[in-house]
Amino acid sequence: MRVIVDLTRCQGYGQCAFLAPDVFTVRDEALLYDLDPGGEQREHVLRAAAACPVQAIHLDWTQTRRVGLSSAARLLAEQPAAAKMTEGHIVIVGASLAGARAAGVLRREGFGGTLTVIGDEIHEPYDRPPLSKQVLTGQVPSGHTMLPRLREVEAEWIAGTPATGLDVANKRVHLADGREIGFDRVLLATGTRARPWPNEAEAALEGVHTLRTLEDAARLREALAARPRRVLVLGAGFTGSEIASVCRELDLPVTVVERGPSPLVSALGAMIGGVAARMHRDHGVDLRCDTTVTALEGDAEGRLRGARLSDGSTVEADVAVVALGSIRNVEWLHGSGLAAGVWGVACDAGCRAVDTNGLVTDDVFVAGDIARFPHPLYQYQFMTLEHWGNAVAQAEIAAHNMVSDQAHRWPHLSVPVFWSTQFGVNIKSVGVPTFADEIVIAQGSTDERRFVAVYGYQGRVTAAVTFDQGMWLEYYQGLIERAAPFPPVSRHVDRREAPRPVPAQVPDRTVATAGATVVVTGHDPAERRATLLHPPRR
Ligand SMILES: Cc1cc2nc3c(=O)[nH]c(=O)nc-3n(C[C@H](O)[C@H](O)[C@H](O)COP(=O)(O)OP(=O)(O)OC[C@H]3O[C@@H](n4cnc5c(N)ncnc54)[C@H](O)[C@@H]3O)c2cc1C
Ligand code: SF4
Repeated sequence: MRVIVDLTRCQGYGQCAFLAPDVFTVRDEALLYDLDPGGEQREHVLRAAAACPVQAIHLDWTQTRRVGLSSAARLLAEQPAAAKMTEGHIVIVGASLAGARAAGVLRREGFGGTLTVIGDEIHEPYDRPPLSKQVLTGQVPSGHTMLPRLREVEAEWIAGTPATGLDVANKRVHLADGREIGFDRVLLATGTRARPWPNEAEAALEGVHTLRTLEDAARLREALAARPRRVLVLGAGFTGSEIASVCRELDLPVTVVERGPSPLVSALGAMIGGVAARMHRDHGVDLRCDTTVTALEGDAEGRLRGARLSDGSTVEADVAVVALGSIRNVEWLHGSGLAAGVWGVACDAGCRAVDTNGLVTDDVFVAGDIARFPHPLYQYQFMTLEHWGNAVAQAEIAAHNMVSDQAHRWPHLSVPVFWSTQFGVNIKSVGVPTFADEIVIAQGSTDERRFVAVYGYQGRVTAAVTFDQGMWLEYYQGLIERAAPFPPVSRHVDRREAPRPVPAQVPDRTVATAGATVVVTGHDPAERRATLLHPPRR
């Protein structure tokens, strides 16, 4: 039996932990669980799934009834029947969260034609969030993170075979083994990979890790279980912070080196970053902010010995985890004529890919971490979201639109939701916290690390971040969707004095992360064309 909890919905009250304590554990408000419990737990898990008030627990479709409907699935059930594409050949490239979810939805929508799913990994689709949490602590083995089969999908699964090219005009996907697969419609869902340490020789030292795949997690778990003298984490974003938290939970000395002024600052701004910094230090993390690693050093046997830092100091460590963000898997799309670059693959709000000239294509769709889409709630700004919930929601919309006629297509309008579990605290965000000029602590106290921070932009609510207050997320999501005035006024919240907003201090969202690489040629409107110049692969 496979289990997955939609942690974007879970409110952490712990009914599941009460009914199936061997499977679900709630620490403060953070839920951890075994994704592959033994058969003897079946009855308990079924009861927990039925009792979950927000129906966040999903189990294998084939073994149980499906519990919980995502918003897109609910819409589906409520919609009158529309003209659907039921035949032909649909190809999905990327067999992970977004790809697998889209495959299931295509069949649920009544697509009866040929479905081919192409993935470069050898495993069937698995869940990544537990890799930096339960798997690293040893609570769950890395092989127990396979996604539950929400329904039996009849499809040809081509595993362990990367796609190497896309021929949009002739509607063909090229594979590394020389095969070409024709399609009527294709979904691009190739996600991201971990950004490696830029010095290849240093990155190859034994003891240097990145974390994105199941194999990465198994290797890192083994290294932590061997009880290294010290772990060095490069980067204090969500992944780096979760790894540091696991190290402290395992009572391992850990140093975290962060280029910015505090952890999580690029995602949540300086105020919440300050709270995160205190949380690291209170748990015994040796946190070095405004500092970078300038070199990783090895011994004569090629094993990591330590690192040199930009402030002139050194750190001795025999495990280093490079957690410096991700790179989008778009190289295979070079030459396809799509607007695909370091920023992702551009698409419209209906998940249709945009070509180099900015024109929307008809038969190429995009979903998940790789997609860069305009969000009407955020001034139609193009955004990529590396969030579990976004991959699921966007895959459902993309799959629906792939088989629907123009009149019945849906926009991808869901408000982004993200969660992280670190140092026993359940951090959740709704909206886009970097889209803000002010922030206010609307409920609770940052000293107690139980609070709701609300973000505003030009006088309206754009995001909220909760520390151990996840049950408030839906309320603030409603305020974001209604463009409610900022600072929010709430009669539900008991406060003696009105909270005072302060500057958000989030990174400048207008600053591009990489230079524009388009050249425009031609003078006559019929001749004018844009061409992408790709930077060298890193
Ligand atoms: C360690 C970790 C912890 C995380 N924790 C959280 C969390 O707490 N909360 C949260 O909201 N999100 C979290 N995430 C993010 C979440 O897992 C991602 O948003 C989600 O996996 C995106 O799904 P995807 O299908 O778009 O991309 P991916 O999961 O990246 O899948 C893309 C697939 O395509 C394959 N592929 C790539 N190139 C090719 C090719 N050329 N041909 C064929 N296949 C190809 C890849 O190997 C991969 O299997 C975490 C991610 C990681 C790595
Ligand atoms: S909301 Fe559901 S999944 Fe989350 S803790 Fe409660 S019962 Fe468990």
